[in-house]
Amino acid sequence: MHELAMQVGVPDDSLMDYIICGIPDAVVNKSVLYGASSILEFKIKLELYKRTCERREVESKDTTTAKQISTTPAAASEVRCYNCGGRGHQSRECPDAEKGPKCFACRAYGHMSSSCPVKSETQ
Ligand SMILES: [Zn+2]
Ligand SMILES: [Zn+2]
Repeated sequence: MHELAMQVGVPDDSLMDYIICGIPDAVVNKSVLYGASSILEFKIKLELYKRTCERREVESKDTTTAKQISTTPAAASEVRCYNCGGRGHQSRECPDAEKGPKCFACRAYGHMSSSCPVKSETQ
């Protein structure tokens, strides 16, 4: 009789441990499953855990897409020089600063395209 009782009476704790150990996840994430006083409470915790997992997956997807958006435009090329129109440096760091502003129309230094003599000739 003793042996039969041993086989049937599997303690809930070891069963819960067995299930928790079988979940391929970090211990931190599984910590919510511990501390259940009954198998019923454990099932409720397990349900909550599944929902947390689903939410975590959605959130991780969100962060990866957000990362892709932030990394796609290269940060260096975002900086634009107002002096020569070149990218990767600011106008105060412009190597052609002493030559004056660069004309975008004729690519000469010393005047802006708005006051370009070449541009006004062609127009
Ligand atoms: Zn420049
Ligand atoms: Zn010009």
